[in-house]
Parts: sequence; structure tokens; C-alpha cells
Amino acid sequence: MSSLYEHKAPAALESLGLKTAHGQLDQTAQQAASQQWSYTHFLGYLLDGEIEERRRRAVEISLQLARFPYRKRLEDFDFAAQPSIDRRLIDELATGRFAAEGRNLVLLGPPGVGKTHLAIALGVRIAELGQRAYFTTAIDLARKLTRANAENRLHRELKNLVRPSLLIIDEVGYLTLDSTQASLLFQVICERYEKQRAIVLTSNKAFADWAQVFAADAVMASAALDRLLHRATVINIRGESYRLKDRKKANATNTDPTRPGQSKRAHKPTPTEVEDDAEKEVSAE
Ligand code: ADP
Ligand code: MG
Repeated sequence: MSSLYEHKAPAALESLGLKTAHGQLDQTAQQAASQQWSYTHFLGYLLDGEIEERRRRAVEISLQLARFPYRKRLEDFDFAAQPSIDRRLIDELATGRFAAEGRNLVLLGPPGVGKTHLAIALGVRIAELGQRAYFTTAIDLARKLTRANAENRLHRELKNLVRPSLLIIDEVGYLTLDSTQASLLFQVICERYEKQRAIVLTSNKAFADWAQVFAADAVMASAALDRLLHRATVINIRGESYRLKDRKKANATNTDPTRPGQSKRAHKPTPTEVEDDAEKEVSAE
């Protein structure tokens, strides 16, 4: 009689869709026998493995849906190299409460100071917490919405952009938007504001220069800022580009006279690159 049920166990797990438990059944049963587990310990252990694996798969799907261009983690951010950032503030943001409460985060600063790194790392954290995040650059967002508009599906696309708990809009102000693109970006900001959905936005432009971001429309820029900053944390990152610092360090090592030939291979920044990466103060209001 008992052996009948022993044979039924794997088939039952499979038909219930408990694939991980099915896969671990034999090994776990052996472990349970050798370690004299109670029946409930055995069942709890087997089901815990199933739940853990489902959680891991759900996070992986969320990370894929988020469309991060690459993955970055807060653990890899060198806070010592960036003293203008309050670590405690980032730790608070990493709890995900801001996204759950629909508050925004604006990261301002010159190129290379870690804006995108922090935005992605926070998005990854949100996905790991089981909430949905979506990453886009401002220009990609504008192009996607322009296409949707031309194909009469703007309404649906805007709805999709309101759905995730967190929308990351990277590189606002890097590329000039035309007036249609600017008004589409404005609509996304309005829709998310109305539904109290969080945005993480990065920009190299000070708020005072945001008219340029919105195709020279100062009224639209100020209306967008009004909504964005209503419930927002603004982090103003100052300092030198991390890449430039790294390069400087590499150059210093590579010009070591005891290592001939090394300095020729090292990439020296051109004057334009240096100028691009040079410290520019971006002031938040
Ligand atoms: P930004 O978006 O501000 O232009 P990024 O986030 O793209 O800058 O940073 C440029 C590169 O330098 C990335 O590879 C990023 O991971 C790295 N980086 C920047 N700041 C830091 C930091 N403080 N610690 C570790 N890596 C950093
Ligand atoms: Mg960036």
C-alpha cells in the first residue's frame, strides 16, 4: 500500500506543477531518512526549495522585462570615491520604499559620476524586491512614443509606461528633443504623476536649463519640473568622472619607467574628452 503512494508522489508533484520539488524529491527523501527528519520538516524543506526557486525565476523575469542596458549593483558603487553622495540616503532608497510610495528620484551631475550606475542599481533592487521596473533613455522613450503615436497606439503605450512601479528615464537633456518628442516625454511625466508612480531620472542639465530639454518651451519645462519635484529626492553629484579618475590612475601606473612601452599602449584622454568629463557644477533648486 505504502509503495503505491511512494510511486504516486513524483507524479503528483509534477501534475501540481511543482517542478523543483519533483526534481529534488529523491535526494531530499534520502536526506530526510538519513537525518531522521520529522515528516513536517521534510515537507517544509521540499516546499521551501520550490518557493525559493520560483522567487528566483520571478526576479530574473523582472530583470529581463526591465530592459537594463547592463546590470549594476549598489555593492559595486565606490562611495568613498564620491563624497558628494550621502550613503545613508542611498541606503534608504535601496529599501524600495520610495517606489512603493510613488516618490521620485532625480540624479543630477556631469558625465561619468555614476548617475546611470545608481539608477540601474536601484532598479535592480526594486526588481529583486518583487516590484516591476523599466529602464529607458529619454531619447529612446521619445522615439518609441513618436512611433506609437504615428501608429495610433499612443494611449496603450502610455498605459504600459505607467504600469511598472519604477520608471527610469536616463540621460534627460543629453540629446535635444524636438517639440513633439518633448511633449511626449511631458505626457509620461504627467501620467505617472497622476497615478503616483515613481520615476528615477538622470540629467546632466541643471533645472535652470531645463527649457532646453523641452525644446525651448519654458512653460512645459516648468510644468514638468513641478510634477517631478513635488514628491522627490534630488541628488546633486559633483566631482570628477570616475572613468577619468581610473584613466588617470592607469596612466600614472603605465608611465612607470621600469615598464618600458606600457605608456604607449595606455589610452590618453584627448583634450575634448577631458573637457567633456571635467567638473561642471550642476545645481539643484
Ligand atoms: P554617468 O551616468 O553619471 O555619466 P555612469 O554611471 O555611466 O556615469 O558611470 C561611468 C562608469 O563609471 C560606469 O562604468 C560606472 O559603473 C562607473 N562608476 C562611476 N562612479 C562610480 C563609483 N563611485 N563607484 C564605482 N563605479 C563608478
Ligand atoms: Mg549616464
